Amino acid sequence: MHPLAQKDLKYVWHPFTQMQDWAKEEPIVIKSGKGAVLKDQRNRSYIDANASIWTNLHGHRHPALDKAIQNQLKKIAHSSALGFANEPASLLAEQLVKTANRPALFKVAGSGYKNPKLGKVFFSDDGSTALEVALKLAYEHARRSGKGHRPKFLSIDHAYHGDTIGAVSVGQIDLFHKSFSGLLFSSDKAMSPYCYRCPFNKAKPERADARAYRKCNWECVGKVGQHFEAGQKKKTNYAGFVFEPVVQGVAGMVGQPEGWLKRVATLARQAEVPLIADEVMTGFGRTGSIFASHQEGVQPDFLCLAKGLTGGYLPMAATLTTQAVYENFLGPYDSFKSFFHGHSYTGNQLGASAALASLGLLKKTGSAPGRRKLQQHLKQSLAPLWKSAFVGDIRQSGLVAGIELVEDWRTRNPWPIQKQVGIQICREMAALGVLTRPIGNVIVLMPPYCCSETQVHKMTRALTRAIEKVLGSATI
Ligand SMILES: *Cc1c(COP(=O)(O)O)cnc(C)c1O
Repeated sequence: MHPLAQKDLKYVWHPFTQMQDWAKEEPIVIKSGKGAVLKDQRNRSYIDANASIWTNLHGHRHPALDKAIQNQLKKIAHSSALGFANEPASLLAEQLVKTANRPALFKVAGSGYKNPKLGKVFFSDDGSTALEVALKLAYEHARRSGKGHRPKFLSIDHAYHGDTIGAVSVGQIDLFHKSFSGLLFSSDKAMSPYCYRCPFNKAKPERADARAYRKCNWECVGKVGQHFEAGQKKKTNYAGFVFEPVVQGVAGMVGQPEGWLKRVATLARQAEVPLIADEVMTGFGRTGSIFASHQEGVQPDFLCLAKGLTGGYLPMAATLTTQAVYENFLGPYDSFKSFFHGHSYTGNQLGASAALASLGLLKKTGSAPGRRKLQQHLKQSLAPLWKSAFVGDIRQSGLVAGIELVEDWRTRNPWPIQKQVGIQICREMAALGVLTRPIGNVIVLMPPYCCSETQVHKMTRALTRAIEKVLGSATI
C-alpha cells in the first residue's frame, strides 16, 4: 500500500462513499494533472472523464487560469466581503451580470409580462450555498410581497440541489434525502420528464432514441401546471419554482425534451411564481450556450452558479437576482430588512480571479464552435453502444452524457442496486485509464472542453470494454 493511500484510509472520510468498501483496496491518490489527464501516486495516467465531478471546464493547469491566480497571489489571496469590497469580485460580478441577461428574452411573447433583468450578484462558496441564498431571498421576497406567512417552494421529481438542509428540502431524491426528513421544511414536488421511462408514452420499448419519444402530448407539463393552478386558487402561490434547466444531473443525466422548460416557465410566469434556475452543473457552456436556461428562451429571476464558475479550480458560487428582489431588502438600518446571510470566504479574491479568466476563455472566438465539435465527436463515439443489449438509453445534452444500463434493453428493467453495476463498470474503466463516477446504473461522461477526439474515443472504448467485461457482450 502506498504511504499516501495509507494516510487517506486512516484519516479521511470521503463524501457519498461507503467507507467499508473504500477500505477494501488501495485508493487512487491524484497527485497531478494537465489538460484532461490526471496522474496518481503510482504515476498511472487517467482521462478525467467526469471533469472532476462536473467542475472542470478548460482542463487542469491551464496557463491562463494558473496565471490569473498567480498574479492575484502577488496582491492578496483573501479579504472579507463583510465590510469591504475587492477588485476581482467586483469585476466578476459585472461580467456575470453581462453574461446572464439576454435582452431578447425580456419580453414574454403574448403577454404584458416582462422577464426580469438579473442585476445583483451574491457570492458564496458552493452549489449548495448558492441554492440556500436563492431560497432565503425568494422566501423573504415572497413574504414581503404579500404571498402569505410561510410561502412554499415547488421543485421537480428527482431534483438535486445540494446537501445543506435548505437545498435538501427542495431536493427530491428519496435515497439521499429520506433519512434527514425530520430536519427539512416541506416543499411540493411536480412531475419531471424522464422520457426513457415515461409513464404516458405507451410505445413499445425500441432502440432509436428519437422514435421512443413519439406520441408525446406534454402530459408532464400539465402536471406541473396543476400545482401553479392550485396555488393561484388559494391566493398564496409559491415563493419560487426551482429547477435544473435542460438536464437533471444527479437524477441520472436526464435531459428534458426540447420545449419542456419553455412551457413550464411560461406557466410559472402566468401564475407569477419566480423562477429559480439551478445552473450549478449546466452553467458555463456545459449544455451548449453559456447558460442552459437561455437555450429554452428562459430568463430566470434567480440564477445559481458554482461548479464550473472558476473553471473547476476553486470553490466559489454566485446567486444572481433582480433589482426588484434587491429593493425588497432596502430600508432604514433599524427596520432590519438587511439580508442576514454571509460566509467567511464570500467573494474570495483567488476564486474570483480564476472565474474571470475562465469566463474570458469561454467567450473567446472559437470556444463555442470547439465545444460543438467535441459534442459531435462524443455523440458519434457513443453511437455504437446502442448495439449492446445492456445499454437502455444514451442521453446527451451538449458535453454531458449519461449511459443508462439495464438488465435487458427490451424490458428496460434496471439492475438491482445491490449488484453495484455502475460501480463495477467504473472500476474497470479506471483500470483502462478512464476515471468517472456512476449514478446508480447510469455512467456519466463529461469531458473537459480541452479533450481531444482521441481522448473522447478512449473514454467510450473503455466504457464499451468495461460493459463487455462486467455484463457481457450480448448485442441486440
Ligand atoms: C453539484 C450540484 C449542486 C451542489 O453543489 P455543491 O458545490 O456540491 O454544493 C447543486 N445543484 C446541482 C444541479 C449540482 O449539480
